[in-house]
Amino acid sequence: MPSPSSAARRISVLGATGSVGCSTLDLVARNRANYELAALTAHSNVETLIEQAREFRPELAVIARDDLYQPLKEGLAGTGIEVAAGEAALIEAASRPADWVMAAIVGAAGLAPTLEAVRQGAHVALANKECLVCAGSFFTDAVKRAGATLLPVDSEHNAIFQVLEPGALEKVDRIVLTASGGPFRTSSLEEMRRATPAEAVAHPRWDMGAKISVDSATMMNKGLELIEAHHLFPVGLERLEILVHPQSIVHSMVAYEDGSVLAQLGTPDMRIPIANTLAWPARMETPAARLDLAEIGSLTFEAPDLKRFPALVLARDALQSGGAAPTILNAANEVAVAAFLAGQIGFLDIAQVVERVMGDLADELPAPGTLDDVMQIDRTSRQKAAERVQKCVV
Ligand code: NDP
Repeated sequence: MPSPSSAARRISVLGATGSVGCSTLDLVARNRANYELAALTAHSNVETLIEQAREFRPELAVIARDDLYQPLKEGLAGTGIEVAAGEAALIEAASRPADWVMAAIVGAAGLAPTLEAVRQGAHVALANKECLVCAGSFFTDAVKRAGATLLPVDSEHNAIFQVLEPGALEKVDRIVLTASGGPFRTSSLEEMRRATPAEAVAHPRWDMGAKISVDSATMMNKGLELIEAHHLFPVGLERLEILVHPQSIVHSMVAYEDGSVLAQLGTPDMRIPIANTLAWPARMETPAARLDLAEIGSLTFEAPDLKRFPALVLARDALQSGGAAPTILNAANEVAVAAFLAGQIGFLDIAQVVERVMGDLADELPAPGTLDDVMQIDRTSRQKAAERVQKCVV
């Protein structure tokens, strides 16, 4: 293994064992001389974390679950790699000086560590969209205060990031987020009612973690992305559109006031947007399949069906309501998705639970002003969602 050159970028990967984390490390492995690892983190997959740490030699490896400290320590004995466990250790990993930090922990659990990386003024490659959804302008204010740089990893937001001309926000007519439509794009409501977790995670285009795969099936993922786009590219909610594009080749588009529409295209492989942030502002080679439009033949587009995918309406409503609503939406959705994956509720119950919890709490809870406020709203919403789940347990 070549040793990192003096110009190597110091990087950390939060959520290293997940789908995005592994794709990130795959790119690093192909460009070993350009990167040195500060920290790697995981939640419970200690075996993979040990393997990754042995291969990439970070200074620090952190497992979020306290009870897995001993196996991690034993697995890395003699390597000289520091090991730690627990939530405080995750924050410590995020605060290690680094030029670039991949924020790829799933869910609101990623908020505090990502915020810590932001506070260090790092270049933060943001995969964890839930951060922006649950902490919104509080999060973007922290980015500004720290002078950090957010590099969007979500393929849609990365596409917009690539085609949005600097300083041209006021010239934007519309931003169009494309959506694959997920595995139930053409299913009837009755088929969706009976959908199993295995069917819901079998995404037709993207290979992703379980939570985001279910979010894609309900299209809540696109709803969360709408909120994410609102914070990253503040053109106004009325200028943000969602368009179903089953081939997942056009990753998003920006329409300008002169009628020009700029899009970024590519095969559906997360290593493309990740590479864009990892090498930014330069570009790096990836092993992603090259786009062959002649072979694909046709690209199709259709309007989303808001009746079968009510999560899209819920997310837009949450954004319009503002205050605590997006935080409630995110927390309730995480609980409902986990309950669906555990076989406790049906597929269509996910949006129902979210809607009910928003109805229960949106007018009650104040807008969050601090991280503690966000976490409190998150906890309250999870409790309420757990109660709602109990009511529709199958
Ligand atoms: P995965 O479920 O595959 O991986 C999640 C990562 O976070 C794992 O490393 C996991 O550790 C860790 N983790 C889970 N829970 C906790 C916790 N409570 N505390 C600390 N670490 C935790 O998710 P994805 O890689 O699919 O997604 C990651 C994020 O990126 C999500 O926010 C998702 O929305 C976003 N994203 C993902 C895309 C994709 O293609 N996968 C595309 C665009 C955005 P362990 O493995 O040990 O459980």
